[in-house]
Amino acid sequence: MPKTERWQWYVEQFSPTEEHHHAVDRVYYQGHSQFQEIGIVGTRVFGKMLILDGDTQSSQADEKIYHEALVHPAMAGAGDRADVLILGGGEGATLREVLRHPDVRRATMVDIDGDVVELSKTYLAEWSQESFNDPKARVIIGDALKFLAEDDDRYGVIISDLTEPLEDSPSNPLFCDEVFRNIKNRLAPGGIYVLQASTAGFHNLSLHAKMARTLRNYYEHVVSYYTHVPAFDNDWAFIACSDGVNLAHLDEPEIAPYCRELRGENFFYDAETHRRIFALPLYLRRALAESGETF
Ligand code: SAM
Repeated sequence: MPKTERWQWYVEQFSPTEEHHHAVDRVYYQGHSQFQEIGIVGTRVFGKMLILDGDTQSSQADEKIYHEALVHPAMAGAGDRADVLILGGGEGATLREVLRHPDVRRATMVDIDGDVVELSKTYLAEWSQESFNDPKARVIIGDALKFLAEDDDRYGVIISDLTEPLEDSPSNPLFCDEVFRNIKNRLAPGGIYVLQASTAGFHNLSLHAKMARTLRNYYEHVVSYYTHVPAFDNDWAFIACSDGVNLAHLDEPEIAPYCRELRGENFFYDAETHRRIFALPLYLRRALAESGETF
């Protein structure tokens, strides 16, 4: 028997012609919620992985790369981080990272899928590490679209940790003018909106460029940054938006004291990492400058 037949495989297809095969040694959960297909599997290299609609959301081995990159640049640059809003973020790791800073008085997380949240509590407790039970956490199971339309609070930092706006994804309706306006209206003056903004890999760079191009219609500073996420087998991009702060200009004097104030140790993020993830290669800068397509 060929060696590979001893394994079950989780195959993540990035595009019709590109895929990554992970050998699975345990299936913790496989099923459907009202909104999406959910898988939680164990793999040799990355440990447990959460998969939604066939796309890896995060892995035990490297989720801190993704979540620290998503949360800390914006939190380090924000003038006011008392009230933070998270859109999506079902695993609870974005919430965990936000709650590490002592300035945070309230962290509101709005995820549409109660099944993802409950399954994450059961199987992926290493991600949330009790943050769902933190008295500063306000966890709302509901559509971020509806929440943003009805809420009238202001937040110093808004973090979008939604699934990618692909066809059939419950996050797809959130990528429209009305929601971009609502998010901006929910930001406190000088606040920062940061979003996970799809791959910076060649197979779908145009989606990231389209997000950045769209957001330039709403904010003075729209800055892309990216890092390699090994479990995604991809470079992953983020966008930070603000009228007051350009996160690309943040450096050691702001970042080092911010990191010292965090509870526990960072895995990925510090001033040197910040400089690296905000330094974009020429092909990416060109793709961003040349993109004309908007949502
Ligand atoms: N790391 C991720 C990735 O690679 O795409 C995103 C992580 S997180 C698991 C994405 C979350 O967005 C999911 O828990 C999903 O339920 C949530 N979500 C999708 N559409 C949503 C909506 N309309 N309102 C609120 N949450 C939504």
